[in-house]
Amino acid sequence: MPAATHAGQAFHTPMPVLPSFDYIRPATPQEVTRLLLKSDGDARLFMGGTDVFVRMRDGFTPLKGVLGIAPQVLIDVKHLSGMTQIETGSRKGLIVGAAVDMNSLAAHPAVMEHYPLLAEALHAVASYQLRTRATMGGNLCNGSPAADTAPAALVLEANMVLHGRRGERVVPITEFFLGPGRTAVKPSEFLLRIEIPPAPKGAVGRYIKLGRNAIGDLAIVGVAVLGYPDKKAKFGYRFRIALASVAPMPIRVPEAEAILAASPITPDVIEAAATAAMETAKPIDDVRSSAAYRKAMVRNLTRRAVTEVWEKLGRQST
Ligand SMILES: Cc1cc2nc3c(=O)[nH]c(=O)nc-3n(C[C@H](O)[C@H](O)[C@H](O)COP(=O)(O)OP(=O)(O)OC[C@H]3O[C@@H](n4cnc5c(N)ncnc54)[C@H](O)[C@@H]3O)c2cc1C
Repeated sequence: MPAATHAGQAFHTPMPVLPSFDYIRPATPQEVTRLLLKSDGDARLFMGGTDVFVRMRDGFTPLKGVLGIAPQVLIDVKHLSGMTQIETGSRKGLIVGAAVDMNSLAAHPAVMEHYPLLAEALHAVASYQLRTRATMGGNLCNGSPAADTAPAALVLEANMVLHGRRGERVVPITEFFLGPGRTAVKPSEFLLRIEIPPAPKGAVGRYIKLGRNAIGDLAIVGVAVLGYPDKKAKFGYRFRIALASVAPMPIRVPEAEAILAASPITPDVIEAAATAAMETAKPIDDVRSSAAYRKAMVRNLTRRAVTEVWEKLGRQST
């Protein structure tokens, strides 16, 4: 039953079905790399599968080639050693196995105490049900400009530990995103874990997401701010700011950060930083929002997030 047309062709209502595929559960990281090399692009890694399976289903729709994927082989890496572990320590910070589900991570005592910004970003993703499957690792490896955990990872200066032909290599999160759907992960590599350094002492963070509804929608704009006391800073504080959904990839905004570092914090200085963030953003028009609205919201949400962080820092110091 034709339901609509696309480029002049009738097509059928997408059915909630998946194409057939082989499922492989390798025993070691080396085997994963061997399989990836052998597959020549026909294999796909998966953890929670909340992106992978949706995109495989979309392979049956006219979106095929845009969003849809049709891998012959799915490689399950969740069970490999360390993949579902969370480690913490005052020196090592937070080490998150690539396949740790979002609910477990958000509820971890160390995350709630030392990385509340990360917990806030995790809670912004879809719904509780989805987060029982979805992982932070998958959220970052998907390479979506709208990934909710990406701005938090950027301001917390996470490192991505990959396994490939030559063993492990570390990619700082600032070098991880290359464009829409593209990351620094090479065809023979996969993510083992995310290493987040200890948060600066006294740090306060905030993630504000604007979506079309409260749950279950990707961000129109996402803004993460981390502020902390720093004796070496000219006026005693530093701020890190990152944005989602307003550029081909999640970005830090050093221009705005520099404005906040160069003067005592006042409403005018916050406004100047928010305007700089807006000017750095290069959003597009899409089904969720116009580019113009996104830009305006970057300024508003950056202003709000920095103000809230600054007020909380002030309360902490009194
Ligand atoms: C209804 C719905 C609502 C959603 N809402 C949001 C939202 O509000 N915010 C948001 O940010 N996202 C949202 N998403 C997207 C999705 O849930 C997240 O991106 C999720 O975190 C992906 O994690 P996963 O473990 O399911 O990844 P998977 O689907 O398993 O994998 C994601 C990508 O990473 C690759 N990959 C998997 N494992 C590895 C590995 N170890 N190394 C390298 N690459 C790997 C896969 O091949 C794939 O390209 C939503 C999705 C759905 C279906």
